[in-house]
Amino acid sequence: MSDLYEKISDLAKRRGFFWPSYEIYGGVSGFYDLGPYGVLLKHRIVDKWRELFVRSHQEYVVEIESPIIAPSVVFEASGHVEHFTDPIVACKQSGKKYRADHLIEELLGISAEGMSLEEMNKLLKEKWVRCPADGGELGEVTAFNLLFKTQIGPYEGDVGYLRPELAQGMFVAFKRVLEAMRNRLPLGIAQVGRVGRNEISPRQAMIRLREFTIMEMEYFIDPEDKEGSCPFFEERAKRRLKVLSYEAKRRGEEPQSITVEEAVEEKIIIDRCLAYWMAVGQDFAESIGVPADMVVFVEKGPAERAHYSSQTFDQTVKTSRWGWIEIAGHSYRGDYDLSRHMSYSKADLTVFKPFKEPVNVKVKKVFADKGVLGRMYREKAPEVISKLQSLSVEAVEEMLAREGKIVVEGYAVPREAVKIEEVEEKVTGKKVVPHVVEPSFGTDRALYVAFEYAYTEREGRVILAFPRDIAPVQVAVFPLLENEPALVKVAREIYKELVREGFQAIYDDSGSIGRRYARADEIGVPAAVTVDYRTLEDSTVTIRDRDSWKQVRVKAADLPAAIRKFLKGAPLESLA
Ligand code: AMP
Repeated sequence: MSDLYEKISDLAKRRGFFWPSYEIYGGVSGFYDLGPYGVLLKHRIVDKWRELFVRSHQEYVVEIESPIIAPSVVFEASGHVEHFTDPIVACKQSGKKYRADHLIEELLGISAEGMSLEEMNKLLKEKWVRCPADGGELGEVTAFNLLFKTQIGPYEGDVGYLRPELAQGMFVAFKRVLEAMRNRLPLGIAQVGRVGRNEISPRQAMIRLREFTIMEMEYFIDPEDKEGSCPFFEERAKRRLKVLSYEAKRRGEEPQSITVEEAVEEKIIIDRCLAYWMAVGQDFAESIGVPADMVVFVEKGPAERAHYSSQTFDQTVKTSRWGWIEIAGHSYRGDYDLSRHMSYSKADLTVFKPFKEPVNVKVKKVFADKGVLGRMYREKAPEVISKLQSLSVEAVEEMLAREGKIVVEGYAVPREAVKIEEVEEKVTGKKVVPHVVEPSFGTDRALYVAFEYAYTEREGRVILAFPRDIAPVQVAVFPLLENEPALVKVAREIYKELVREGFQAIYDDSGSIGRRYARADEIGVPAAVTVDYRTLEDSTVTIRDRDSWKQVRVKAADLPAAIRKFLKGAPLESLA
């Protein structure tokens, strides 16, 4: 008997959900196609994510789309050119390349998370680790950059990179989006899109891809107003999460079940918004069919975190073949990215925060004695005065202390021509660099997980029991008998009406009705409508529930409303 994973991949291929790309050329690992039902499933998963993260927070969260290729400066500023690397080691004999940390984990059974290149090198040498393929000696462990590099236009120097995450698109566009959203914080900028990571040797099928889709939000907050940054906190304050903090993990403890509120109070999660969006992430996982206790948030240790993060939780889900896998990363990115982009681009990416009332503050200012300088420099005097006043107070004080005079661009200004005085100024607000909280979901992993949890066997048959509202096909329509023109005619009309009403539907009239139910179950269609002889008499049809295999009769005219209700979760019996 093949294991669950094999059954799943077989079904996914056979029924048009997903399969490895470029199969006819032998395949290239790290790339997967989505088939007809895979695409529909992906749309529903993305839509679920949008509903939970964007639509239901639309006062604060907006969605944008930015290019997948960026000039190199963007990823220099973000730190990816320098830091977005994995450790690589090559066999001196065959040239085969491996991820050094994976070799250590697989061959030595030691976790390599957080190890430096030197430490890995030392360990591989000490333990005499050889090439798993041909026993050859291994070379030095080096850092391999995972960015896909390309050239923008015809000039070789114009290096571009395929984005490895969506975040930089949101940081670079931050000022524009902020303006469009009336310059207010908090502000969430979301995006769904393809990314590329040139993984060294991806071997986990759909779990580790070289090109995949991410659903991500950068949630910008005022670091001085943590309370006000999460105006919806109460909505999920009592939501329970299973959390494993880094410290608890080190002590060998199990994850603890804790409310969002408690996790913040006990400082297990360092920020309210981070905790809140983790709870939304929990809702998302459950909405695609993962049972609540199969989701655990695992904190990353300081050495395991990405270079920009001050706290990160991996949202992990249990799978049959791959164990606990990360479906999302929840990170507190602080002001790292905006500050870096400010320094690289020289753009002002701060947010102006008006005070409730303007305040008077005392500031020191440089004043010039116009009489003295007028006599010294005559018609040049206004230029000298303006240059002098453009110097900072600190610079003037320092020059006077050092030289007893000021020299600005060749003009000497004696001590008696300069005065530093304290004056009162009205200030209406201040500039802040927002901090950022980021939930980032891998769509393909979410899709795989939804597929695996939907997979059910019953009485020797396979059912994809997706939550009804993410099922790729929502309703199937069958005439009871395939060659009964009267039944076929009505069934076709009903099918067309459902399509006009916006449903994703299939029509099937081949084979026995039992075979057709079985086929619909295999692609997870929640409701199957059958037109039988009674339909011709009283215009009613049956609706069959994929999960209970029970049926009810409803008026054909009421079908769209009934199916809509059913997909939202109404029990089958309530439709009659
Ligand atoms: P990260 O920015 O690394 O936290 O990635 C965000 C999410 O993308 C992760 O939580 C995964 O769900 C997904 N992801 C990361 N790397 C890959 C990959 N190589 N293949 C498929 N999904 C991935």
